Amino acid sequence: MTYETLAVERFGAVCRISHNRPEARNAESRQLLDELDHAFTAAAEDDGVHVIILAGKGDHFSAGHDLKEAQRERGNFTVEERWAFESKRYFDYSLRILHTPKPVIAQVQGACIAAGFMVANMCDIIMAADDAFFSDPVAHSLGAAAVEVLVHPWVLGQRKARELLFAGGKLTAVDAEKIGMVNHVVPRADLETRTMEMAQRIAQASPFALKILKRSLNRTLDAQGFSVALNAHFDTHQLSHVAGAFQAIRDGGLGNAIQSSKA
Ligand code: ZN
Repeated sequence: MTYETLAVERFGAVCRISHNRPEARNAESRQLLDELDHAFTAAAEDDGVHVIILAGKGDHFSAGHDLKEAQRERGNFTVEERWAFESKRYFDYSLRILHTPKPVIAQVQGACIAAGFMVANMCDIIMAADDAFFSDPVAHSLGAAAVEVLVHPWVLGQRKARELLFAGGKLTAVDAEKIGMVNHVVPRADLETRTMEMAQRIAQASPFALKILKRSLNRTLDAQGFSVALNAHFDTHQLSHVAGAFQAIRDGGLGNAIQSSKA
């Protein structure tokens, strides 16, 4: 299959899957999400692939869901339509990255916002350039309860997660490394090389050992209530889409709300 919104490249046993809409800051459109899920499934099923890198071409990893498309095509979704769309493309696709039976490394530069934050944090390891920043302005600026997968407290700790979500600020790569959300911060010019070195090193290990170890690590999260908490938040998030605050902001334009919050 050829992809229109992704670049898929092979480097020995490493498959690099990159968001490839740099002109749109790698915004995740419906097509991009469908292609991403297809590419992850194909890489998971290919025995020659031992490690996957999730990246973004251009200056940014991803600025999040494509809000222009969302406004145009899904602005007037009913509860039922939104539930079907978001449970499949936002929730299930994200969790499939987490449950990919191979190590996945996020390679992050520039903006990693909202849905970008969500998918980067589905990866096992995050390598960040020194210009990377992380944010989720959905509650602060769009009037909905964060993104669909509330991974934030698990990767940031409760205190930092609450500040980022309530106040809508940015977390720098260095700050993200300090609190353990990012594994390594490297100069922007070295990001691809350093990420590939990490991937190739992991690719030398037994794929079966890595597969069952990752299964155990995911079960460790589940023993702490990870899946139960994420599923509960998804339902609550849907409620926030039909609340007055979100609907008023949607009517004024989702993109405008994000723009004005930056000013
Ligand atoms: Zn939503």
